[in-house]
Amino acid sequence: MLTVGVDVGGTSVRASVVDPRGAVLDTLRVPTPDTGEELDSAIADVVRGLALRHPVAAVGLAVAGFVSEDRRVVRFAPHLAWRHVAVADRIAARVELPVVLEHDANAAAIAEQRFGAAAGARVAALVALGTGIGGALVIDGEVFRGAYGVAPELGHLRLVPDGRPCPCGKRGCWERYCSGTALVSTVRELQERGDGTAGPLLDESTPLTGVRVARAAEEGDPLARRAMRELARWLGEGLALVADVYDPEVVVIAGGVSGSAHLFLGEARKHYAKALTGAGHRPLARIAVAKRGDDAGMVGAATLAREHVVAHQVTGR
Ligand SMILES: [Zn+2]
Repeated sequence: MLTVGVDVGGTSVRASVVDPRGAVLDTLRVPTPDTGEELDSAIADVVRGLALRHPVAAVGLAVAGFVSEDRRVVRFAPHLAWRHVAVADRIAARVELPVVLEHDANAAAIAEQRFGAAAGARVAALVALGTGIGGALVIDGEVFRGAYGVAPELGHLRLVPDGRPCPCGKRGCWERYCSGTALVSTVRELQERGDGTAGPLLDESTPLTGVRVARAAEEGDPLARRAMRELARWLGEGLALVADVYDPEVVVIAGGVSGSAHLFLGEARKHYAKALTGAGHRPLARIAVAKRGDDAGMVGAATLAREHVVAHQVTGR
């Protein structure tokens, strides 16, 4: 059975036909429109385009935002026009196929647990390091959502009391210390303290981004390397908290920053092992880099759509 997975992102809508082994067979992409109505149409158009070329049975939507506990409604998505919109039903009516909706980090975690770095793991966590932290938990093969569909907000665990302010309103959240954004903050703090060097990070002609810091670290810039070591420390400390609560078999590190994992993962593992309760007397979770990359959200959403059809024996085409 083939299904379509759609990654509804802030800049583009990407849709792929995915087979039962998680392989992507065909992809269409359009820019993300500004209004909710146009967004519905854009999604319906790419799904119909793929359905003309392949016999697809259902659609999964991966959305960066809050999804209702029944997974039919997008409550709020900071980079999309939807506000309390019954997205799943609206798209289903347009494309005449069953539609399931999922938070993008959850969808990515499903892709990794079914076909990627956490394949077969009974308890797996996903920590996606990008602008912030996207977190997800898969327990006994199912996404763990909590009672009201908002768990787990791993990125906003408070690691540093009275630490860096966070847009969520709190201070010292994990993602303020462990993300692409955090790399920039750390470099700025080090520079303000006079720890700066004459390295390429002092070039003010282009904006400083996490990617630029990572690239400078690759090239051996001492300041960028220090920022990476800070990130490694906080990644390890945060993962120890996650492991104390969920005791995962594997933690998958995903997101843009994971491309530089060789620069911080070894050190993060040491901090993790040190900060874990009962360290030395319990098995350590494997910490692995994501394997499904950029298509994880689409593949996971398509997989959830297929599993939904099988579970409900909905007859598609
Ligand atoms: Zn926060």
